[in-house]
Order: sequence, then C-alpha cells, then structure tokens
Amino acid sequence: MAATSPILPVYRRADVIMTRGEGVYLYDENNLRYLDFAAGIAVNSLGHSHPEVNRRMQEQVGKLWHCSNLFQNEHILPYSEKITQLSGLDSVFFCNSGTEAAEAAIKFTRRYHDKTGKPDRYRMIVAQGAYHGRTLAALSACRNPRVIDGYGPLVDTYDIVPFNDISALEKAVTAETGAIMLEPVQGEGGIRPHSREYLQAARAVCDRHNLLLIFDEVQCGLARTGTYFTFQEFGVKPDMLLLGKGLGNGFPLAACLVTHAIAAVMEPGCHGSTFGSNPLAMCAGRATLDVITREGFLQHVRKMAMYLQYGLEKIMPHYPQLYGEWRGMGLLQGVVTKVSAYDLARALRMNGLLLVPAGDGVIRFLPPLIVDESHIEEALKIIEKTSAAWPLS
Ligand SMILES: *Cc1c(COP(=O)(O)O)cnc(C)c1O
Repeated sequence: MAATSPILPVYRRADVIMTRGEGVYLYDENNLRYLDFAAGIAVNSLGHSHPEVNRRMQEQVGKLWHCSNLFQNEHILPYSEKITQLSGLDSVFFCNSGTEAAEAAIKFTRRYHDKTGKPDRYRMIVAQGAYHGRTLAALSACRNPRVIDGYGPLVDTYDIVPFNDISALEKAVTAETGAIMLEPVQGEGGIRPHSREYLQAARAVCDRHNLLLIFDEVQCGLARTGTYFTFQEFGVKPDMLLLGKGLGNGFPLAACLVTHAIAAVMEPGCHGSTFGSNPLAMCAGRATLDVITREGFLQHVRKMAMYLQYGLEKIMPHYPQLYGEWRGMGLLQGVVTKVSAYDLARALRMNGLLLVPAGDGVIRFLPPLIVDESHIEEALKIIEKTSAAWPLS
C-alpha cells in the first residue's frame, strides 16, 4: 500500500516549492522565476509584496491581530463606508472565504423572506456551470462531479437553469423561489460572461416577483473586469453582492454586501464569524481598496486587458490543433484548449509562465492587475514557444 501523505490529497500540487513573490513574479526554492498569470487564482490583484499593502500590514501586525467582533477596530467602519459607497449597496458582512460569503447570501435570502412574511420562498435559481464554493449549501448549486461526488444528498434548494437563456429563467420562477444567484462572468465554469440582456432580464424577473438578485463576484469583481464591480459594466444592480479572492490581496477576506431591506431583517446574534472582520483582514482589505481606487487604476486594467486579448488572438490561429475560442472580460480571460488544459498549464510552467485550468476545457489568464506591457509580451513569448514545441515528448 502506498504511504499516506500527511497532506490530505484534495489538490494535485505541482512539485515546486514557492518561497518568494515580487510584483508579477513568483520564485521557487531554487530561485527559479515564474511569471504569475494565475495570481493565486485571481487573488493577488496587486501582485506579490505590494509595497504599500506590505507596509500597512506590517504596521498592523505589530499593533493588533485579533480582538473579536465584541469590539470595534480602527479599520472596519472606514472600510465598510468606502466599499458600500463604491458599490452602491448599503451594508456589509465580512467573512474569510468566498464560500462563506455565498453561504451568508443563502441564509440571508431565507431570513429576508421569512421576516417579510414569505417563509415559503426558500429556493434559489442558479445557472448551469455555476460555482459558489464548497460548503454543503454552496456546493449543492454546482453540478461539477468533482465538486459534488460523494457528498449527497445535496441541499435541495436550487433550480438550475441553462446558461444565458432568458425564457428558461422566466419559466423557472415558482411560488417558492426567493432569489436568483449568478456570477456575471462564470469563473470556474470556464470564463463565460452572461450577456447584458440576460442580467437585465434577471433584474426584471426579480423586480416583478419580489425576488432577491445575488451576484457572486468573488472571482470577477473588484476591478478585474475593468470596472470596480462587474455589475457596473452591465448596468444591473444586485440586492446582494459577494466578493472574495482579490479583496484582501492574499489575506483571507470575503464579503457579502446587502441592501437596506435585507440589513433591516438582521440583528445581533443572527449570523457571525470568529475571524470575520479581524483587524488584519480589515487592514488588508482597506489598503488593497485604497490602491485600486486611485486615479488611473481602472484605465490601466482595461488597457492591459486589450493588450493581452490582442496578443492571444494573434497567436491562437497559428495553432488550431491547440486552441479554440477566446473568452473573457477585462483581465479575466480564457482560451478553450483542444488538449488537456492541465497538461498545457504544466508545459507553460516548465517554461516559466503560470496559468490556471478552468472548467469547459479552458485555460485561464488571471494576471495581477498591476501587470504591464512587458509582462504581457513575456507571457505571449512563452505561449508562442510552448505552442510551437507541442506536443512535448
Ligand atoms: C472561488 C469562488 C468561490 C469560493 O471562494 P473560496 O474563497 O474558495 O471559498 C465562490 N464563488 C466564486 C464565483 C468563486 O470563483
């Protein structure tokens, strides 16, 4: 019998020990350098060791790590004010992972309808290809066998509709529907943007039936698609907004933002988190948001996004045996691969470029948002070289 690893084998980890990060680069224990277009799976939006975030975190580490939610800390109010103002939502709950943010939204949906006299409205409409995380309630929205296998019976709370199909969405509403939950751009599902018309239709359906519209922007939100939040690009405002991944630039931090109407049914003790909104997380989130909201930041993201897309679309047609269509929005981009996305990512890593496979045979490009033209040129050269040498022997 093979020896059991002391690390539970739920990840297929590459045999590389990363020891240091600087900007858009990661370095392994042998000081080999990797161009990091995975960014910790859309987490290190400001790259590694961002000077300002590092300085502010180091100060906070020396002052206070944790004091519980029985007290205020110096960051939570100014940070909450800023993120609610920026998003146009009214109130925020902070937690430690995207999954917890989704779980909060699922619970808040039930409580909202319960407290407004419609306790039957506990069900949610979600999209095929959705990914909302790994708690039992969150994973039950997902149909990816890798995510759900062995965990049944699933939480029977979801009605799953075909992707981007307005009439199917309209028909899926029942007397028990409480919310529609969507990723404006599906991430794990293979970088699939919903159409503007679809998201507008979802808003209209919610308004017509008094349902809550929830946008899970854990992956696509916070400047990655070129606006602070993806819903702003589409001009469709949700009742709840989920953020995570890039929110703390690598420090575990996620959020569920809600409207007044939802906040009004919440009271002390009805939800909580030991570590949520701790001073270190609040400091990380606040410092990250301060950098992202500086003048010119979004313009930079949009410019780099076009540069990357243009470069990819120039290379791909030369290797029709390797690449299918390009998809994406901003610096959330994907290319359909005709070979194993995992093998391709591995070959690219050997040549110094880190990317992430996603569902639907897609390979994801999620560079830090501070990437510049020279990094993109470097990435494109590695892709060219790797593609030309395919298949690897
Ligand atoms: C990653 C992700 C989650 C889960 O976040 P975790 O921090 O891994 O719990 C939820 N929703 C979306 C859209 C995601 O991309």
